[in-house]
Amino acid sequence: MQSIQRRRVWLGLVAVFVVAGVALGCWRLAYLRQFGEVERQVQDRLTINLRSVESEIERFRYLPGVIGQDGRVVAALQQPGSMTSSGAANGYLQAVRGMSGADELYVLNLAGQTIAASNWDEPGSFVGHNYAFRPYFLDAMATGSGRFYAVGVTTGKPGYFLSGRVDIGGEPIGVVVAKVDMGPLAMTWAAAGEMSAVADRDGIVFLSGDPRWNYRPLQTLAGDTIELLQAERRYDGIDIAAAAPLAPAEAAAGSLLINLPDDTYLLGRRAIEPDGWQLLSALPLEPVEREARLVGGLAALIAILGLGALVFANQRRQIVRLKLEQNVILERRVAERTQALAHEVEERRRTEAELRATQENLIHAAKLAALGRMSAAIVHEVSQPLSALDNTLAAADLHAQRDAPAEVHRNLGNARNLLRRMQRTVKHLRTFSSRREPGPPEAVNIATVLEAALDIVAPQARDGAVRVEKALGPELPRVAGNAVRLEQVFINLVLNAIEATAEAENREVRVTARSDERGVSVEIADTGPGIPQTVRERLFEPFFTTKSTGESLGLGLSISRTLVEEFGGALRFDVRPGGGTLVSVVLPLYQAEPVRKRLAPA
Ligand code: ADP
Repeated sequence: MQSIQRRRVWLGLVAVFVVAGVALGCWRLAYLRQFGEVERQVQDRLTINLRSVESEIERFRYLPGVIGQDGRVVAALQQPGSMTSSGAANGYLQAVRGMSGADELYVLNLAGQTIAASNWDEPGSFVGHNYAFRPYFLDAMATGSGRFYAVGVTTGKPGYFLSGRVDIGGEPIGVVVAKVDMGPLAMTWAAAGEMSAVADRDGIVFLSGDPRWNYRPLQTLAGDTIELLQAERRYDGIDIAAAAPLAPAEAAAGSLLINLPDDTYLLGRRAIEPDGWQLLSALPLEPVEREARLVGGLAALIAILGLGALVFANQRRQIVRLKLEQNVILERRVAERTQALAHEVEERRRTEAELRATQENLIHAAKLAALGRMSAAIVHEVSQPLSALDNTLAAADLHAQRDAPAEVHRNLGNARNLLRRMQRTVKHLRTFSSRREPGPPEAVNIATVLEAALDIVAPQARDGAVRVEKALGPELPRVAGNAVRLEQVFINLVLNAIEATAEAENREVRVTARSDERGVSVEIADTGPGIPQTVRERLFEPFFTTKSTGESLGLGLSISRTLVEEFGGALRFDVRPGGGTLVSVVLPLYQAEPVRKRLAPA
């Protein structure tokens, strides 16, 4: 029991681990897949945005060089202090600004001083300002061209500064600068809900569709970088060092994670040459996590269902195995029981055979005893009249010799009476002996038989003043037997009853007949003295009689019972309630193919 419990606990733990493992594995796989997908989308977006940023800058790349070729600009540079030249240059720059779409255009002399500008007549004009510290000036002076993104020192507006050196006869005379406003690009991104931005070579975001990104470094800035920023006044007036890094966390190789209050974003970067800028684009990771969670949850569910199915299948298998085992046990028990029964049947058969043999032996012995008693009775019955006959005939002979015819006649008369008595005995005995061949039973109307029998005994009843009553049930079915012999049986029984009432005050015999499922039962009840036990034991013995009249042979009941039993019926004697004897005869119903069925004898 305990081991089963322990096994269950183990299996439960294993199931929990399997479900957790499957869920975690699927969650991880889904996460990686989705993450890869988002990465791809970020890269796609970078590719598209790179084109727009580059084209935005390219549009103005050649503008400083072209402006530097103009005579008005050259004149203004060559004639410092000439109001006419600088006025012409201002007008020219203003006109070009309107046509090119550049934010501002201005010309610096070799000292970095602005001598002409497109905003010469506007508040915050560049004219007179010195930009010698700006890298775009230094680069242009050194290499011929420069480019630099910065927040305007004068205007406070961010812009991309493109510069080109103006040379006359191989000698530099000044620098032309075009300031390009990249704000519209950021506005396009913001309008599209895109989280795209541009960061400078130090990773500081300067242009973005999301205002939260602006002027924040991607990662914590190094000390010398901060110093450089201050020297260049790149983002004049903005404390970049104090701004929180945008993407301190590293994700997959090359990708960074941005943690914003609403979500975590995957950040992709692409370099924009030649400024060492970085184009940035970010997509939220929440859908990735959501999908991974969903897949993990589904996997857990499927794993639970799968395990459930396994457990179910296992239980079914165990039940089937148990049933099979029970069947086997049952079959074995049935086989054992069958064997025991067969043994018992064999035993009973043997006992029955033994019983039958014993019974047959007994019957044989009883038959022999009956034969002995019968022979004795016959000898007694016949030898007595025979010796009487001998004496009577001797007496007749004597009287004949004495010539006494009257005596002879009397003697002969007596002899004939004796002979008749012997004839009667022999006649009864013949009935006895002929019963061996009773012939097939016939359909007998018991009511007719009883009526006939009662008719025959009517004189005796009348003589003895006996009231004979009969109560026969309606439509008694026909019984199996022989009408003549059954009549003989009933005459015998009714006569016995009449004779038994000889001494009674109320001489009455009642014959009733009714049918039940066993057959038809006829009852003869009398008001006689009943039968004492000693007589009862010998009732059916041949030649047993308690009557002293020479008419009684004591064969009636013996023959009656034999006949009734021959027909498959039964004859029994009982005490009549209220005194007297109740004889009942049960006879089987007649069937077309009669089945010989012996009813239990009394
Ligand atoms: P029998 O009538 O010639 O004597 P039975 O065989 O018919 O011979 O009857 C045997 C004896 O059974 C009778 O002598 C009598 O004693 C007894 N017996 C028969 N029927 C009755 C009866 N209804 N009541 C009392 N005794 C009876």
